[in-house]
Parts: sequence; C-alpha cells; structure tokens
Amino acid sequence: MKTFEELGLSEKVLKTIEGIGYEEPTRIQEEVIPVLLEGKDVIAQAQTGTGKTAAFGMPLIDLLKEEDGLQALILLPTRELAIQVAGEMRKFAKFKRLKEVAIYGGQPIDRQIRTLKMGVNIVVGTPGRILDHLNRRTLNLSKIKYVILDEADEMLDMGFIEDIESILKGVNEDRQTMLFSATMPAQIKAIAKKHMKSPVNISVMPKEVTVSTVKQYYLNVTEGNKLDTFTKILDASDIQSGLVFCRTKKSVDELVESLQALGYSVEGIHGDYNQTHRLNAISKFKDGVIDFLIATDVAARGLDIENISHVFNYHIPENAEAYVHRIGRTGRAGRTGVAITLVQPREFKLLKMIEQYTKSKMVPMAMPKIKDVYESRVNKFKKLITDTISEGKFGEYSVIVEQLAEENDVMEVCAAALKLVFEKEFKVGLNDLKEMKEEAHTNQSYRLFLNVGREHNVTKKDIIKLLTSVKGIAGNDIFDIDTFNGFTFVNVNEEAGRKLINTKLNVKINGKKVNIALAKNK
Ligand code: ADP
Ligand code: MG
Repeated sequence: MKTFEELGLSEKVLKTIEGIGYEEPTRIQEEVIPVLLEGKDVIAQAQTGTGKTAAFGMPLIDLLKEEDGLQALILLPTRELAIQVAGEMRKFAKFKRLKEVAIYGGQPIDRQIRTLKMGVNIVVGTPGRILDHLNRRTLNLSKIKYVILDEADEMLDMGFIEDIESILKGVNEDRQTMLFSATMPAQIKAIAKKHMKSPVNISVMPKEVTVSTVKQYYLNVTEGNKLDTFTKILDASDIQSGLVFCRTKKSVDELVESLQALGYSVEGIHGDYNQTHRLNAISKFKDGVIDFLIATDVAARGLDIENISHVFNYHIPENAEAYVHRIGRTGRAGRTGVAITLVQPREFKLLKMIEQYTKSKMVPMAMPKIKDVYESRVNKFKKLITDTISEGKFGEYSVIVEQLAEENDVMEVCAAALKLVFEKEFKVGLNDLKEMKEEAHTNQSYRLFLNVGREHNVTKKDIIKLLTSVKGIAGNDIFDIDTFNGFTFVNVNEEAGRKLINTKLNVKINGKKVNIALAKNK
C-alpha cells in the first residue's frame, strides 16, 4: 500500500490532505492518481463511498494553472452532487488560487453568467444547464484541458447521454478525459471508446472476505445527530469499553475532544502520534484506565489490541476488507463480540456492499431511548454507592455527616451529596435528564430513484399505486414524488425506503421494467 507522498502529488496538495486529515489513499486513489498526473485518460470503476471525488480532484488541482482561465469541466448528474463536488474542489484547492463554480438548473441563469464572465478555472455542472450555456454562448469550452465525467452510470440512468455527447463535441479535442462510475454498463463503455484517447482502465472491485462470529448491528444516523446517538448507545446499555473507528485523523481528534468534554474516559490514536504515545494509549485501554480508544484504521493496524467486547464504526469503512479487519478485533477465542456501525443515508449502499462481500447481515438496531439512558445511569450510580458502602472506612466523612445532621435532615444531607457527585460524574443533573424529551423520532426521508417517468406515461397516482402494492408500504409512507421525463424521484420514510430498495419489483409500466434504487444525492 502506498502513501499519498508516493503518488506524485505536489507539496501544496499534500499539505491540504494533511489538513483534511486523510491518513492514506483509498485503493481507487492509489491507482488513479499517478496515472492522471501522467496526463493519461482514465476510466475508473469503484463502489460508492470509495473516495472517487478526491481520486480526480487532488491530481486535478495539481494539473491546473492559476493563470490559465477556464481549464476543467466536471459533469455530474444532479444539482446536489454538483454543489457537493464544487465544495470539495474548493477544499482541495486550499493552497492554490483557483476559482470554481457550480452550474445547475433551478438557479437563476443570470447569476451564473455573471460568475462565468468574472472568470473561473473549474466549472462543475449538470449536463442540461451546461448545454443551455453553450447554446447561449455564455460558456466557451474550446480551451478546456480536463473533462471529468463523474457518476457516469447515474448520468446514463437519468438520460443525460445525448447531452453529454453534445457537450463533448464543443470541448477542445486536445484534452485529458476522466470517467468515474460505480458500474460500467455497455453504453458508458461506448461513450468512453468514442470520446477518450487510449484510456487506462482501472477497476477496484471489493474482495470477498469472511467475517467472524461477531454480532453485527447498524444504526441509521445523520451527520447532525451522530454524536448524540453514539453517546446514547454507550449510556443506555451496559457497554463498559470498546474500540471506536473513525475515518480521518481529524475526526478522531474531534470525537476524542467531544467525548472527553462529556465526561467519557477516552483517548485517541492516529498516524500523527508517535509510537510511544500510541503504545501508551493502548496499554491504558487494556488496563482499563480509559474505557474507549478512538482510532483510525492505520493507527490500529498491526497493533496488539484484541479481545475487545465492542467495536464501533463511528464512520463506516470504505470497503469490506477494512470492515472485517476492524470487527475482527472482537469476538475472539469463543467470546461474544458486538460490532455497531453508524450509517448515514448516503452510505447505505456501502453497507449493502459490505454485507454482500462478507456474506453476512447487519441487524438494524433501535435508537436508544432517553428513558433507558436514565435508568442505566441511575443503576450505575446506585452500584457505585453500594460498592462504596461495602468498602466502609468512612472515618472523617461520617464525622461531617454527624455534624450536618445536627441542623439538617439526614435524607437531605444524603440527597445533596448525591446531587453533587452525580452531576460531577455524568455532567448532567438527574432531574434534567428525567425531564429531557425524547426527540420526535426523526422520520428521515429516503430518496428513491425510479427508472420510469413522463415519457412512459406514468402519473403520480401510478407511482403511489405501484409502491403501495408492496407489502408493508402505505400511502402515508410516501412524502413526495417528482416526475421527470425519463425518471422519477420519490421521498419515502426511512423504513419504507429500506424495504423498497430490497424489494424486487416484477412490474412493467408501458413495456418498461420498473427498477427502484437509492438516489445518490440524499
Ligand atoms: P465516491 O465518489 O467514490 O462515492 P466520495 O468521493 O464521495 O466517494 O468519498 C466518500 C467519503 O470518503 C467522503 O466523505 C470523503 O471525504 C472520504 N474520503 C475520501 N478519500 C479519503 C481518504 N483517503 N481517507 C479517508 N476518507 C476519505
Ligand atoms: Mg462520487
């Protein structure tokens, strides 16, 4: 496995990566980056969530010249992805003076025209709107040196292939073209053949791996409620200790800081700490001096941390092998181990992929309730007190109680002492905890992509009829339907969404077989 330094990236980009906190390249990045830096066309295939954006984004930043005006065009299927990728490009260009703009439908075109006129280096856009600008002659692609077709299979699904072909006709022929996709249908290969110059084919497919006898759970979270959910899991159960994996060095540091502030006994390890620090943290963890060790994959690799009761994936790993490696640290030698993975909606495909390649299932876990947190803390606290009572030897403490009891009620003396200790121990008052409201369970919406639309004469009513024909799906599970020409987006609640993407529909609408998938941009 190579390091970022070995891939040929410049100091500026390496410094940016350091700042973002990526510890090592993902497999697709390791393969793609050197080839792109050599100036070759590339067709790259890797699963969702494997870091394809940075695979082209980081070398692209190195290739671009600050003074050369518009040089790069990145095409993406949806507005959300265009905004997201433009944001990533800005992050990668931290130490270079490059300007990017996201160009997509639904935003006033005048504003985009003004931005384009002011001069940008990178245009990140959706095919329809880019074509619109080309027709209005408000965008000139004749000096473009780099074209990136990202999420190519989704662009195909959404019927953008003709638009892409028209756009490519307007682009300077002397250019480098890069195509990224999770799958490689024949039509994508055909586009590549027609518009690319002897492209290097790179495909990183996950390997099949076997998983030990660990009990595997997952819990749906959002970026916003992740920390809160995680601490509830720790609090609402009798989990005493565990190993927690994060994806970047920065996220290890942030999680350590947050958990320490909340009163948990944790330490972090990652590649920026020297070996002594790491070994020290690990031995503290093994000796029970700290309860949780937060680590990146790299820091945990090759270290002797085994026989752990719980492994948490605070961030889901990027491939099945890393997953197996992480959770293999629990459930050794006939003991039972538990692995809990937190998954955000857009990572759900990655979870499915891991399940497929490990040939095992993760069981959905219920969101812990505040009521359980309350009970668990009260029980822990009571045990702390009774243990202390059985240890005895109160000495001077008894004297204080006697003195206070002369003027106060003994019950009140005890309650006051408990209050002080509890608040110190748990960073929250017991009365406050009791009164805390259960958050209205966020009925998160799931965005689904259906491959039928207006051109198949589908109406919203047809879509509702179709979805509710699936067992367990009711009308009020469906929040919103957007029909387009060749496809439809449907927002449904989380449970319904999960059910639907796992259902094989055997339905045709006007001759077209209906397919349901999780939309990318959620
Ligand atoms: P894809 O386009 O392959 O679906 P993305 O480019 O959106 O995947 O990346 C998925 C996630 O992985 C993002 O949160 C990104 O910040 C993160 N990521 C990318 N490269 C690395 C890396 N080398 N180390 C850790 N995290 C990474
Ligand atoms: Mg992507």
